[in-house]
Amino acid sequence: MNTTRAFAESLDTEDPLAPLRDEFVIDEDIVYVDGNSLGRLPKRTTSRLAEVIEHEWGRLLVSGWDEWMLLASRIGNLIGEGLLGAAEVILSDSTSVNIYKLASAALDARPDRNVIVTEARNFPTDLYILQGLAEQRGLELRLVDTALDMRVTPENLAPLLDDRVALVSLSHVSYLTSGLADMHAITALIHSHGALSLWDLCHSAGSIPVDLQSCNADLAVGCTYKYLNAGPGAPAFLYVRSDLQETLRQPIWGWFGQRDQFDMGPHYDPEPGISKFLVGTPPVISLAAVQTGAEVLIEAGIDRLKTKSDALTSYAIELFDEWLAPHGASLGTPRDAAHRGSHLAIRHPDAFEICREMIAGKVIPDFRQPDVVRIATPPVYTRFVDVWIALDTLRAVLEKRRP
Ligand SMILES: *Cc1c(COP(=O)(O)O)cnc(C)c1O
Repeated sequence: MNTTRAFAESLDTEDPLAPLRDEFVIDEDIVYVDGNSLGRLPKRTTSRLAEVIEHEWGRLLVSGWDEWMLLASRIGNLIGEGLLGAAEVILSDSTSVNIYKLASAALDARPDRNVIVTEARNFPTDLYILQGLAEQRGLELRLVDTALDMRVTPENLAPLLDDRVALVSLSHVSYLTSGLADMHAITALIHSHGALSLWDLCHSAGSIPVDLQSCNADLAVGCTYKYLNAGPGAPAFLYVRSDLQETLRQPIWGWFGQRDQFDMGPHYDPEPGISKFLVGTPPVISLAAVQTGAEVLIEAGIDRLKTKSDALTSYAIELFDEWLAPHGASLGTPRDAAHRGSHLAIRHPDAFEICREMIAGKVIPDFRQPDVVRIATPPVYTRFVDVWIALDTLRAVLEKRRP
C-alpha cells in the first residue's frame, strides 16, 4: 500500500465530505482522535447558543417555556427520523439514568422472569446500573463474555437465553472494541425467547445508520456528546417502541411525565405516550446544542457518513498492519467494516504510556483498560491525513520504545 502522507492528502482531496470540517471549531495544532469521548464544537452551535441565551433566556424569560416545553420531543424526533430510523425519540436526563428508567420498566413488564443478560465488557455505567437493579430485585445477571477483538453475535448470545430472561441490554457498537452487533438478528433472537431488548446507541448515534423500527427494537438509549457533537453533559435520548409506550411504566414519577402537567393534580397519572419517560425540567441551553449538532450530521447524510467512516477505519487498519503490527501491537477491532463502528482499538501492553507520549506529540487518542489505545475517526470532521498523523505518531512512539 501507499503509506505516504501525500497519498493521505490525495484521499482528502477526493473526499466529497471534506468541506464539512469547516462546520467545526478546530485547533490545527493538535490532531484529535477522541471524538467518541467528546465530539467537537460545531460553529453554528456557538451562534445558536448565543441567541438562546441572549434572546430566549435574556428577553423572553419565563414566556420562553411556550417553545422550550416542546424541545425534548421536537429535537428527539429530529434525531430519531434523521439518524435512528424511528421518529419517536425524546431527550431526557443522562444515558445512565435512561438505562435505569427503561431497564426498570422492562423488568416490571416481565414479572414472572428473573434474569438480565448483558455483555461482560459493556460500558461500566451500563453494567453498574444492571447490577444495581439485579441486586435490588433479587435477579440473576448473566454476562456474555466475548474475546476482546470480538462482538456480540447471535451465536455467543444464544446459550445465555431461555424463558427466565426478562431483559437483554447490549451496546450496539462496543465503546471498547468498536465491534458492531447485528441489531436485527439479535433483537429477533431475544424476542424468540419472549424477552425485551434494550440497545445502547452511545457509539452508533451519528456515526453509523441505525434502524430501530425495522429491527423491531424495543428500547434504546444513547448520549449526544460523542458523535452527535452536542457538548459536555448534553442530555441523552431514549426510544420506546410505540406499541410498548402505553403499557410500560417508568420508575421515576416526575411532573414532566404527567398527563395535563399544569393541572398540578395531586396524583401521578402518566402520559400514555413516550413523554411519560420524561422526569423534570429539561436543560434548555444544552438541548439547543443537540439540535445544531444533529443538524450538521443530518445534512451530511448518515449513509454518506458511514461510507466515509468505513474508508477511514479501513485506511487506519492498512497503516496499522504496515507500521504497528511489526512492533507488537494487535488489533482489537473486527476487520470486516460491516462489523465495526467509527473507531479502532489498538492493543499494546504499554497502551497507557503510549497514549501519554502521543498526547505529548499533540495527538489526542484515549486509553481504555486493559491495554487499548482508542483511535476514533468521526467521519464528519476527520481527515485521512489525521489518521495518517495519528498512526505515524503511534509508530514513532513504538519505534522509540522498542528499537
Ligand atoms: C459514553 C457512554 C455512556 C455514558 O453515560 P452517561 O450517563 O452519559 O455518563 C453510557 N453507555 C455507553 C455505552 C457509553 O459509551
